[in-house]
Amino acid sequence: MTPYLELRGIGKRFGEHQVLTGVDLSVRQGELVCLLGPSGCGKTTLLRIIAGFEQASSGALLLQGQDILGQSPHQRGFGMVFQSLALFPHMTVAANIGYGMKLKGIDAKARAARVHELLETIQLPGMGDRPVSALSGGQRQRVAIARALAVPPKLFLLDEPLSALDAQIRESMQIELRQLQQKFGVTTLIVTHDQHEAMMLGDRLMVLRGGQVQQCATPGQMYRQPANAFVAEFLGAANLVRGRVLSAESVELLGHAVALSTGMAAGTPILLALRSEDIRLQGATVGQAAGTGSTGNVNLPAQVEFVRDLGATVDVLLRCGGQVLRCRGQDAWMRQAQAGQAVTLSFDAMNCNWLNEDAKDA
Ligand code: ATP
Repeated sequence: MTPYLELRGIGKRFGEHQVLTGVDLSVRQGELVCLLGPSGCGKTTLLRIIAGFEQASSGALLLQGQDILGQSPHQRGFGMVFQSLALFPHMTVAANIGYGMKLKGIDAKARAARVHELLETIQLPGMGDRPVSALSGGQRQRVAIARALAVPPKLFLLDEPLSALDAQIRESMQIELRQLQQKFGVTTLIVTHDQHEAMMLGDRLMVLRGGQVQQCATPGQMYRQPANAFVAEFLGAANLVRGRVLSAESVELLGHAVALSTGMAAGTPILLALRSEDIRLQGATVGQAAGTGSTGNVNLPAQVEFVRDLGATVDVLLRCGGQVLRCRGQDAWMRQAQAGQAVTLSFDAMNCNWLNEDAKDA
């Protein structure tokens, strides 16, 4: 089946600076994809190319099979919420939201009803008569979302749409945004540097690094099987544990020799993505020896560095073999743990993701 939106080998350079390289992406109709990556990785540039504000240096961009790279932003007719795209400051909130409907010739009564409904959705009921200039930054972001969705667009492009909102309203707006997008079935791309927001919103996430796609997958797939160390570290989902193969039957992990057969040659560097919730902790050191059972269950002595009680869960930072690891659990004793306390950490090494790239190499 032809994808609704397709990016084929999109590249972009500004002078000598190659900002995007060979970006491929296929988006299904009605899908929401989050573009995610650290500052400067090219997210906004990619969105601006899709919107038509920026020319690609190479590649093709197809909407329902038709190349649209030659079309102006106006011809593309996409809905956009970009930080640089201000609302009309001299108009009221209602006039801003109703603007697209008016251009489409929708009558005043139907417009007013729709504006009323959208104001409820963005949690600004009764504020239609306010001038936009009297709104806070977060309120303006919400009005911009409502304006873009008042007439469901062919494609909805958002650049950090919720960045000005505080934590509580941000989460409720994430849910509202997702529900609106699903209700209208609008194919949507959202740029964010917030991995939690991306996980919450996206059907799929695309992680960029230095203008290159690292992985494109559902949030669950990316969390469980990060394509490389960069993705694992960027999602903040895992501790990266470096080590090396010692022999056919043992490896060095976290400064300890542990029995584990990997089938790899002695001296081979290894890298494990160890999720914080996959580390089990016991309050006292069990025995003295580090080691493994036959299933790859690793037990190591560690020291508590820091405890953060998050309410539902507890984060414990541990020092083990010179590395600090984050462990997340729910045990009551963990809330009482003290810095300096000796503990035993255990994990199943065979259940970890074994990565073959080093995130620090870039
Ligand atoms: P952030 O999360 O900080 O907004 P980003 O991932 O959206 O970052 P971009 O804004 O796309 O990144 O920028 C990618 C790179 O391209 C940066 O190094 C930036 O300096 C450069 N860049 C962007 N626009 C231009 C331009 N018009 N001319 C020259 N360089 C540019």
